Amino acid sequence: LKSPYHGGHLEVIVGPMFSGKSEELIRRVTRAVIARQRVFVFKPALDDRYHESAVASHAGRTVHAVAVRGAADIRAHLSGEGTLLHAQGDTLPDVVGIDEVQFLDEAIIPLALDLADAGVRVILAGLDQDFRAEPFGFMPELLARAESVEKLTAICTVCGAPATRSQRLIGGQPARFDDPVVLVGAEESYEARCRVHHVLRN
Ligand code: ADP
Repeated sequence: LKSPYHGGHLEVIVGPMFSGKSEELIRRVTRAVIARQRVFVFKPALDDRYHESAVASHAGRTVHAVAVRGAADIRAHLSGEGTLLHAQGDTLPDVVGIDEVQFLDEAIIPLALDLADAGVRVILAGLDQDFRAEPFGFMPELLARAESVEKLTAICTVCGAPATRSQRLIGGQPARFDDPVVLVGAEESYEARCRVHHVLRN
């Protein structure tokens, strides 16, 4: 007799900034919570601490989350070590969601696969491309390994077409290809743009 399918799998939500990745993650997670599934949501910590936090969309919806420094923090949290939020049973949660996954480390990949193999529904949201429109870090491998991929678009702030890219502006001007990813003291912003209106300064 074959054992029944345990339901574990990997879902990835990608797109540029403002495309509604966080909103979509919050929507999927909220449904699971309403259905009384055990859900854990994680996001990258901006500082050096592992702490309680929330995932928020640009439109203001939020869901409870734990801010982590990397995959190791998530593994520790799920195994009950130093857990911040809930008393742990022996069982894994039904659903694990992670927002802004591109800012975590590559060890997210084996972690996501281990969880899916163990029967967990893993939902990862993040940028597929950086401000240069290059594939973002390890995201291509996640896309390749996922059972389902949803690629969202925003609205181009120049022409209104579907926006697939994140335009980086420094002091109101398009960023250069080799501008450092972190610019100290510069006034920086991002806009959703289509293929035609995404520009890199020479
Ligand atoms: P992401 O996680 O992909 O950055 P969010 O879920 O945080 O996106 O935010 C999506 C929300 O951003 C939209 O529902 C809308 O309120 C807002 N928004 C701001 N600028 C744009 C834009 N250019 N196109 C679409 N939505 C935008």
